Amino acid sequence: MKCKICGREAIVKLRSYNLALCKEHYVEFVKRRVEKAIKKFKMFNKDNRILVAVSGGKDSIVLWHVLHSLGYKTTGYFLNLGIDEFSMKSQEIAEEFAKKFALELKIEYLKDELGVGIPEIAKISRGKPCSTCGMIKRYMINRAGLKYDAVATGHNLDDESSVLFGNILHWQVEYLDRQSPVLPRDRSLARKVKPLVLLTNFEIKFYADLLELPYIQYKCPFSTGATTYFYKSVLEEIEERMPGTKVRFFLGFLENKKGFSSPHRELKPCKKCGYLTTAEVCSFCRLKERISSQFIFR
Ligand code: SF4
Ligand code: ZN
Ligand code: ZN
Repeated sequence: MKCKICGREAIVKLRSYNLALCKEHYVEFVKRRVEKAIKKFKMFNKDNRILVAVSGGKDSIVLWHVLHSLGYKTTGYFLNLGIDEFSMKSQEIAEEFAKKFALELKIEYLKDELGVGIPEIAKISRGKPCSTCGMIKRYMINRAGLKYDAVATGHNLDDESSVLFGNILHWQVEYLDRQSPVLPRDRSLARKVKPLVLLTNFEIKFYADLLELPYIQYKCPFSTGATTYFYKSVLEEIEERMPGTKVRFFLGFLENKKGFSSPHRELKPCKKCGYLTTAEVCSFCRLKERISSQFIFR
């Protein structure tokens, strides 16, 4: 198998593009896909300051690496969720990466904000803290991102196409309307972008392993994600038989998205913190109140 660009020995075959590539040209391919997404969806430019939400997982590490090597101005943001060894190890990875490439990394601790971490929140959420954890991450990343031109997250093509698949299966039109690689700035909501949307899980992992980038190898102990994994595995099976389906599915949706518009959601500032919400008080402030009534802090 020869590299289609230079004829040297190829190390990977990408069936979706009918493309075999050597190491050098694979790295270039990944960077080009990210650059393509940035330009196609008008995410940001080289003068903008980008906050990269880094979890220590392969996606956010690859995202940060690619953006930095393409010459974008990036700062990392790591939120320590207080999940014992998992959070400690993830933070070490983010710090190691920042140090290696001499990049700025901002770190916040959930315990400083709420007095508790995700394990305590799990106790008041019947052992299933993921939806609350997702809300907390969105809130804190958004707040940190307000000082930047955009917040970049590591959502990839598998994440986006499986979410889309689920939303279509259940005809969740409101979610379809909001699914986008770019969410514009709106008062207290930072601009959000997903530069990895044109790359699959496999392509991102292959890049991280090829360049020996550090990333957390095990899952959060609270991770279940059964439905998401199921949708991903169904799409993977379709992709095996019909290479290129995932990217066509996702891009086709974006081109036809206008047909899925839902009634405009009225967002107003939270009475306590100013974060835009549909309620009087946002979910984060309500969680804070709930925690202070359930936990006694010394
Ligand atoms: Fe949070 Fe759940 Fe992800 Fe763990 S698996 S980091 S609890 S959302
Ligand atoms: Zn080559
Ligand atoms: Zn609030």
